[in-house]
Amino acid sequence: MLVLPKLQLEDVFACAQCGYCMKRCPVYYFLGWESTSPRGKIFALKEILGNDGRLDEQSIRKLGKSFSTRFFNCTFCGFCREVCHVEIDLLEIWSKVREILYDHEVVPESIIKLSETVKKSKNIYMMDNLSRTDWITYTGADVNFKDSAEVVYFVGCITSFSGRVQSIAQAVSSILNSANEDWTLLKDEWCCGHPLALSGAIREARVLALHNVEMIESTGAKKVVTGCPGCYLALKHEYPRLLGKKPRFEVLHSSQLLDTYITSGKLVVPKADITLTYHDPCELGRISGVIREPRVVLQSVTDTFIEPEYFGRESICCGSGGLLKAVNPSLADNLTQRRYGMLASTNAEVIVSACPACVQALAQTATAIQNGKRVIDISQLIAEQLGLM
Ligand code: SF4
Ligand code: SF4
Repeated sequence: MLVLPKLQLEDVFACAQCGYCMKRCPVYYFLGWESTSPRGKIFALKEILGNDGRLDEQSIRKLGKSFSTRFFNCTFCGFCREVCHVEIDLLEIWSKVREILYDHEVVPESIIKLSETVKKSKNIYMMDNLSRTDWITYTGADVNFKDSAEVVYFVGCITSFSGRVQSIAQAVSSILNSANEDWTLLKDEWCCGHPLALSGAIREARVLALHNVEMIESTGAKKVVTGCPGCYLALKHEYPRLLGKKPRFEVLHSSQLLDTYITSGKLVVPKADITLTYHDPCELGRISGVIREPRVVLQSVTDTFIEPEYFGRESICCGSGGLLKAVNPSLADNLTQRRYGMLASTNAEVIVSACPACVQALAQTATAIQNGKRVIDISQLIAEQLGLM
């Protein structure tokens, strides 16, 4: 049976069809069809929803792929929710609808492939999960595997496996060493499960959450640090919901840890004569509210920090979120190019972000054009300033 929970049902019928959300949606900006806008999707749901919240199964199956694709042509950037004056939790609606679509096998082929990959290999790349720590050899990072530690560094799939951003793991490791932390990597880290949750595969995401929580708690760590906003969102916000209890550790994004180190004087970062701008990753900034900390860190490095057009809670998505790259890579590329253009037009020498997916996408765009800017992660910036890499 296809039933939308009561809260989301009420939200769907609370929509005033004002269209504020459409003006901010980066997908609608490019596709331009009302049906792919947040307002259009809410309207489509109203059309097929009964008053009891039942989604008309026949209609969904009939509409099939085109209906489903609308809900996957979305970066989960949360800008629609941010601007909705009726305070409709649109992200929650998109999540529930994806869950229903996944359960009834009407999701895009690429989503089925991705979720099968994660279920089987425990990472998003269908790599042997034993090679998850090969980045240590490639980068020459100085890391520890301990049975118990105060801090666990949760690396995440993209940083672990993607050669372009493995230096983020090297940077975070070197910073933890420099701060004399008692830290460890997990001996058997699995994908955080966020890609499965975004696919709608909630039961499968729960399996991964359970494993990771058991692994982390077995070390006795009080803190988990990650440089990936997707992992941060999963560990901090999704795991308590998936598992029905709050894990016994605090979750920090690397930018928050850096803020603590710098503000307390644990790390003293020399100032540089450099102009920086910053791209707020949607999952870190608007969705998780980590906006102040990266700025404290960046302003400790330079006196010339320039905000781009759209920043903080109003940052525009770079196209890397919501599994859009798997579903519609060319649309995702358009979003990346648009965001890169905004960042480059600040004339800052270096574009900084705090997410391996954002850094990877923006850096790819930069290398594809003449005189592209340098794009780096906030941990790389600090590790370089400290002479650690
Ligand atoms: S901003 Fe909110 S109320 Fe207005 S159309 Fe969008 S979802 Fe509906
Ligand atoms: S989450 Fe972002 S991409 Fe998705 S509908 Fe809302 S504004 Fe558009």
